[in-house]
Amino acid sequence: MTSIGIIGSGFGGVAVAVEMLRGGHDDVRLWERGDDLGGVWRDNTYPGAGCDVPSPLYSFSYEPNPNWTRRYALQQEIHDYLRGVADKHGVTPRISYGREVTAATWNADDSTWTVTFADDSSETVDILVSAVGQLSEPVLPAIPGVDSFEGPSFHSARWDHDADIHGRTVAVVGSGASAVQLVPHLVRDGERVVVFQRSPNYLLPKPDMPYRRWHSALFHRVPVTQQAERGGIWTFMEQFARGMDAMSPVGKINRAVALRHMHSQVKDPQLRAKLTPDYPIGCKRILFSNEFYPALAEPTVEVVTEAVTEVRPAGVVDESGREHPADVVVYATGFDSQDFLDSIDVTGVDGEKLATRWADGAHAYLGMYVPGFPNLFVTYGPNTNLGGGSIIYMLEAQARHMRQVVDRLEAGSYDSVEVTASTDEAYDRELSEKLERSVWASCENWYRHPSGRITSNWPGATLPFARRTKTLEPSEFAWA
Ligand code: NAP
Repeated sequence: MTSIGIIGSGFGGVAVAVEMLRGGHDDVRLWERGDDLGGVWRDNTYPGAGCDVPSPLYSFSYEPNPNWTRRYALQQEIHDYLRGVADKHGVTPRISYGREVTAATWNADDSTWTVTFADDSSETVDILVSAVGQLSEPVLPAIPGVDSFEGPSFHSARWDHDADIHGRTVAVVGSGASAVQLVPHLVRDGERVVVFQRSPNYLLPKPDMPYRRWHSALFHRVPVTQQAERGGIWTFMEQFARGMDAMSPVGKINRAVALRHMHSQVKDPQLRAKLTPDYPIGCKRILFSNEFYPALAEPTVEVVTEAVTEVRPAGVVDESGREHPADVVVYATGFDSQDFLDSIDVTGVDGEKLATRWADGAHAYLGMYVPGFPNLFVTYGPNTNLGGGSIIYMLEAQARHMRQVVDRLEAGSYDSVEVTASTDEAYDRELSEKLERSVWASCENWYRHPSGRITSNWPGATLPFARRTKTLEPSEFAWA
């Protein structure tokens, strides 16, 4: 029996575990550094946290949820859904909590991985799966004085629920996907909010709606109705992903809709000027909200477009030298998206370090396999993030492929498997050409490594990825 160790118990880790268990591979264990499963859906508890991908698609195909309370579910409901899937498929008892992996070393003698933990203990497995995610390491901005602020200050992914916010002035640094969700909640609760926006985003209306009791009843009794909704959303999102090119017809329509959305919700031309992006649509993640613009238009909100230069004990200073007094500072400044496996010291064949291999940006065959690192699978790895679409769909496709690799290892009594260098190089050339021509190369965004390489995103729609990963092609790998 092949032993499979999975680092992380977010959607990625659970997706792989379920697939392996469903495929009859029972020796599965998951190591989780936190005290609960859920990954980003455990960590992001800021007010208004939710998913801007509709829930019927942001769920496993084999676990539709007829009980979603709304089309765009909020964090708690998504977290509960993942817990339910993990329980139902027997994943939960296989998770060890408080197990932070610090290193993993390939043992050529017996084709295993030795995994070392923060407490210096270790375990050995045949197959090592990284499911650490792309957006799990919060980043505070490198601004002088961040530690000097006297009141509560925290990252959006580490929300301090003890901080007293009511009736206070809250400074929010950043205006990306998290800020768009949390700012309207702060404003609704009557707080004065100062939003520091470095770059504006394109914002599309969110076709959200509550599911009534009759929806759930229908989804329960006639499951094909929910499948039809999922299929419709998937088809729409595929077109959306194909339109990730500002010059494409879909890109032009998206831009027109986004600007009209702003015009209809923001009447003040000066504010509109601040909120109008000057880069091609799609280059940064397109956001969805019906509430963000109206919140910014409230008299209790100020949008500051001057760069933040300093944080002082009682406020935030912009580049004009103006100090904006604040009682609380929220850093909605995103994540270290280039981290991938950096926080783990991974050593492959002949002592090669993965960090060295990826020094100019991470890359992997299908986002999952790296030559020189046998029996290592990476889920939600390089170039598997989406500009539009459901990451759960991608995770399922990856898990299916990984399961086929394990099937073949067992069927052929092989000890190790490794993608061939030629397969990896050809794939990398193909992907790099597409990515260099993509809209993501046209502005600053978190998809790119400092070297310029676009390491996060899969270029295009999800169907080509699902097709490509559907059936394992044994000749692309070396089996030993
Ligand atoms: P983000 O989208 O990367 O936004 C970070 C924000 O902070 C940006 O506005 C950025 O400006 C700003 N910023 C960063 N450093 C700064 C500095 N030194 N000074 C001033 N501003 C600074 O981060 P996020 O909002 O946490 O979202 C990250 C990703 O998580 C999203 O893109 C998405 O993939 C995921 N997410 C998804 C959902 C969902 O609904 N599915 C919700 C939340 C998050 P620039 O734009 O100029 O860099």
